[in-house]
Amino acid sequence: MSAKLVVGNWKMNGSAESNRSLIQSVVKNSAAAGAVVCPPLVFLSQVKELLQGSGIFLGAQNLSRFDHGAYTGEVSAGMLRECGVRHVLVGHSERRALFGESDADVAAKVDAALAKDLVPVVCVGETLLQRQQGSAELLVLAQLRAVLDVVGVAKFARCLVAYEPVWAIGTGVAATVADVQGMHTSIKQAFAEWSVASVPVLYGGSVKPDNAGELMALSVVDGALVGGASLVAEQFLAICRAAKSIG
Ligand code: PEP
Repeated sequence: MSAKLVVGNWKMNGSAESNRSLIQSVVKNSAAAGAVVCPPLVFLSQVKELLQGSGIFLGAQNLSRFDHGAYTGEVSAGMLRECGVRHVLVGHSERRALFGESDADVAAKVDAALAKDLVPVVCVGETLLQRQQGSAELLVLAQLRAVLDVVGVAKFARCLVAYEPVWAIGTGVAATVADVQGMHTSIKQAFAEWSVASVPVLYGGSVKPDNAGELMALSVVDGALVGGASLVAEQFLAICRAAKSIG
């Protein structure tokens, strides 16, 4: 079994001082080697320095669909690469819900990331209402298909996917093991039909030290996308240890 990947999404949190103490605590322990941390854009350079020699990779939380030009406030894939970024979250539910990102926007951003050899972490997931209505799987597969239709099979194979039910993000209520097993299995079956079977699928949504072990133990789960717990060194390390002891 290959190692399970842990990706930390700091969201809009941190300061020069708190980043330093968080990273210094994380890098003291080798458990996080191979993981990815995604700080806010303005801290990329600082965090890159702090990660030197740790084996932890640098990620970003968003990127522009455009390459360069008159797009005030945007940051391109090429700029992220220059800052040492390797992974980039695309289509996080907060971007979709709060900033109006459509499936088409997400697909264009994934394409822009791939064009600069970044690894997009394509985030998908249903709302509580969609789950209650029984349309979770349809919705998630449609979100993935929208990306595949734009980038094509060969390029999609270079992506990672994060299944993050919207109702589990930041709520402290993770999806049940059965829900995660069911959705990841459906995604992997669809991938096999679409000939992109080797794309890893992470789970995200209230992953904490106390549930990481059972979630990471699922063979259909290839890792975790972690929000809140990635801001607390001991919690992030415990999740990394859970991923390693199983991967
Ligand atoms: C996230 O932001 O992607 C996330 C999963 O957050 P949390 O772990 O806090 O639910």
